[in-house]
Amino acid sequence: MIKDETIHFIFSVAVGVVVGYFTGHWWAIGSALLSGFLIDADHLLDYLIYTKFRRLDLKEFFDQGKFFDKLGKVYVLAHGFEYAIILIILAVIFPNLAWLFYSLGFANLIHLLYDTFANDASWPAYFITFRISKNFDHNKLWIAK
Ligand SMILES: [Zn+2]
Repeated sequence: MIKDETIHFIFSVAVGVVVGYFTGHWWAIGSALLSGFLIDADHLLDYLIYTKFRRLDLKEFFDQGKFFDKLGKVYVLAHGFEYAIILIILAVIFPNLAWLFYSLGFANLIHLLYDTFANDASWPAYFITFRISKNFDHNKLWIAK
């Protein structure tokens, strides 16, 4: 998990730097970190659902996401390729805020592509609409190991 988060951090900073370079808006680094790194804060909600909001054991929380297997559900509500697509479209529609929407959208997109490969997910697993259609059922979302 530390390795994955480090990679998410580096990719997000890279997206922010590229967008900042082309737009002159260096806050792009902050917004890229928000959607490409801090997005994983949504795991906390899944964890709290797993514990029925009764405990927060950080060791258990950071233990390779094993609680997802035990929970049998994968909500991660901030993860969705749809969000990345919408953000990138917004960048085209609103050129004044392109730095914001491109940094949010591309950092998010790269995060989700990385998650898809690193977590052995089936390709549509990180579409929020796909997870909703499968009732967030872990077994229907992931490739059997
Ligand atoms: Zn993630």
